[in-house]
Amino acid sequence: MKKLHSMAKYLRMAKAYLCRDLPTHMVFFVTARCNAQCGHCFYRLKIKQAAPAEELSLNEIGMITRELPGLVQMSLTGGEPFLREDLGMIMRHFYTNAKTRFFTISTNGSLPEAVDKVLREILPLTPEAFYRISISFDDIGERHDQRRMIPGLTEKVGKTVAIVNRLKTEYPQLTSSMVTTMDRDNQADLKAILAYLRSTFPVDDWGVGLIRGNPYEPAKKNVDLRYYREFQETIDEPHRSSSWISRQIAKVIRYEYPLKIRILEEKKQIVPCVAGRRMIVLRENGDVDACETLDSFLGISSSMGNVKEHGYSLKALLSSDKARSVRDFIRQGTCYCTYECALHCSVFYNPSELLKLLFRRTRGRSLCRTTSR
Ligand code: SF4
Ligand code: SF4
Repeated sequence: MKKLHSMAKYLRMAKAYLCRDLPTHMVFFVTARCNAQCGHCFYRLKIKQAAPAEELSLNEIGMITRELPGLVQMSLTGGEPFLREDLGMIMRHFYTNAKTRFFTISTNGSLPEAVDKVLREILPLTPEAFYRISISFDDIGERHDQRRMIPGLTEKVGKTVAIVNRLKTEYPQLTSSMVTTMDRDNQADLKAILAYLRSTFPVDDWGVGLIRGNPYEPAKKNVDLRYYREFQETIDEPHRSSSWISRQIAKVIRYEYPLKIRILEEKKQIVPCVAGRRMIVLRENGDVDACETLDSFLGISSSMGNVKEHGYSLKALLSSDKARSVRDFIRQGTCYCTYECALHCSVFYNPSELLKLLFRRTRGRSLCRTTSR
């Protein structure tokens, strides 16, 4: 019986890979509320106007999930997702109705008690799901707290990591990661920041993203790609986390560093982007976009409509003329960016890139501390 069950799971995943009609990855901004005020944030203007009454309710989210067979993976973001008290139940809707099995929750790590509560609630209810808690961390100690404008943030992040690590001993499907966003202000210190993270926070994997979109403080986008290149050349080695999932994620992240540099240097999509087809973005108010960053590209709108106007059916929304025209625009390859979620999907659904990724040889030495639990 157990074998049949896991066969059905893999068949579902294979069908989702081959079927082009519905996205398999959704980025869900569960809330626009946030307790941080980061200068590199592209969502700050929305955060300033955030109103809980405008957020999709749990009931509305339930209706959306019933129309989404084969949504393999979700990234929950915001705002700060752990400010939503029903976060666990949101994930349960996706788990039960959409059969989602991979959840990444991006957090600033400032709410350890909420992280504990949500994970304790959801983990026993969703035994087949994998969870990745992805904590943003961009500088050393107090400099990081000031950057995010949350006093004592580093200590709170330490507590969050400890809570996740404690839960991992009981729930091996739980993993943790740290993400540093490189911008003008921390680019010269990347190696030192990563060495600091390595010695301070025992997480499974980490990565460095590039500032993107229209940041609240535009000057922060003045980055020098030399720093990114130097750092990525140093860390290219196989990851040794005890978690298989984390090792695969680390492999993908490392594979994509040079791709991101090429995208920005050559100013084009290096791998045809599948945003709007394989991956979509659902905003807290029900707006659906092809991606997070198209709006910042020549002011072109990536909005495909609001799910409420389509009876909470994403299938209906994605079949609309508006959605089709956004996808057609993206297919032309005029826009380009380093948005990681879209890039992961574009690599995964491109057979030649996927083969290169699978057979890639690694080299060098890692700055990353790997956890052996
Ligand atoms: S924590 Fe994230 S969502 Fe909140 S302001 Fe900073 S970058 Fe934006
Ligand atoms: S290349 Fe970037 S901006 Fe263009 S659709 Fe893909 S994710 Fe959006």
